[in-house]
Amino acid sequence: MSGVLTADAVIVGAGVLGAAAAHHLARAGHRVVILERGAPGREGSGTTAGNLHIQAVHSQRPGQEVPLDNARFLPLQRAASERWETLEEELGASVELRRSGGFTVAETPGQHAELVEKHAWETGAGIPTEVLDGDAARAALPQLGPTVIAATWCALDGYANPLKVTPAYLSSAARSGARTHPYSPVRRIDRHREGWRVTAGRDGGLVVDTPVVVDTAGPWLGRVAAMAGAALRMSPVAIQMHSTVRLPPILPHLVQHIGEGLSVKQVAAGNLLIGGGWPARTLDLEGRSLPSLASLHGNVRLAARVLPFLADLRLLRMWAGPLAATPDEMPLIGEVPGLPGFLVAGGTYAFTFAPLWGETLRCLAESKPPPVDIADLGPGRLMDHADHQADHQEERNTQC
Ligand SMILES: Cc1cc2nc3c(=O)[nH]c(=O)nc-3n(C[C@H](O)[C@H](O)[C@H](O)COP(=O)(O)OP(=O)(O)OC[C@H]3O[C@@H](n4cnc5c(N)ncnc54)[C@H](O)[C@@H]3O)c2cc1C
Repeated sequence: MSGVLTADAVIVGAGVLGAAAAHHLARAGHRVVILERGAPGREGSGTTAGNLHIQAVHSQRPGQEVPLDNARFLPLQRAASERWETLEEELGASVELRRSGGFTVAETPGQHAELVEKHAWETGAGIPTEVLDGDAARAALPQLGPTVIAATWCALDGYANPLKVTPAYLSSAARSGARTHPYSPVRRIDRHREGWRVTAGRDGGLVVDTPVVVDTAGPWLGRVAAMAGAALRMSPVAIQMHSTVRLPPILPHLVQHIGEGLSVKQVAAGNLLIGGGWPARTLDLEGRSLPSLASLHGNVRLAARVLPFLADLRLLRMWAGPLAATPDEMPLIGEVPGLPGFLVAGGTYAFTFAPLWGETLRCLAESKPPPVDIADLGPGRLMDHADHQADHQEERNTQC
């Protein structure tokens, strides 16, 4: 062992959530150590679509069993939206942030009714949206096809380049003194005096004592929590993305679907990114998840129906990425009951929520009230009963 480090907070996992937490904690003067199993920002945060979902999202990805609670999401989306507005200034870096607005389309009368209902929720949550009929939507975005009978428009929807966001957060944290240790998997988390002792590194030679551990290990969040003795029920999945060749500017807005899994946008480099939560063929938490041809066909066919110009384009590549979904599809953020100073954050739409959860994690670490109500989003709801916890105690510290 090369000596024990001390820190005010140890962050496990350098995805966008860990990086955002590091930025907020380091900027507030805390000594932060970030431990990352591989290269920073290469898992969910390197494979994400990077959409800023501010209007209500389609509540069920293809294959998703439990719909998310859209009405509960909206106040969180609004709070996240406000923070994205000032993020580039806060980080002193461009993250290719584009707030060029988005449409959510309907193709059936039932879906049209859902748009009207969601518009009422959005208005109630202070998110400005507008319901348009099909012709008005096509007048605003002529690329929409004839099957679109209505759409909602939200000027706050947008996109940021995920390959820039996590590094920008980490650079900002580093400027405030945070240390990132890549290729340093956390192997053990033990109670130590009033706080925690975290053991990491390929040979277990990196040891850090800290009062606060922030578990932002994405789809591995449950495994890391188990090392500290918490049995959390998570439902990690892998979903996939598709990218076309580059084009001159053709699609200025994000396009989503209210009833089916679809998101399409053109990124700064010119590629059209097509996603919508379609399931990958495999979820492989030890290696690389593989994309599915069935999802490729389903997602691209749907995209070309809504935006017919896509049918003529060549696909350049497809990829799958892991997602730290929870059984109830709601975000996860809070302190683990019974484990003082052990914080977790994860769940779906974590890219959109990153600026909000980064700030929230700082507040929790400082035992201050969070900026939004998170009482119902804590890990207590995902904890197994006592017997199962005892089982996890046995397997704790054996996983990494
Ligand atoms: C294909 C895809 C599309 C998506 N699209 C969107 C979208 O458009 N908008 C949106 O808001 N959200 C989207 N999401 C969700 C969101 O992007 C991700 O949930 C988010 O980026 C995850 O960030 P994270 O920091 O929680 O986890 P991750 O980015 O997965 O990071 C977790 C990190 O923890 C590390 N780690 C794991 N175990 C250990 C250990 N033992 N020791 C040290 N480090 C460890 C991992 O190596 C990893 O780097 C999408 C996700 C996917 C996969």
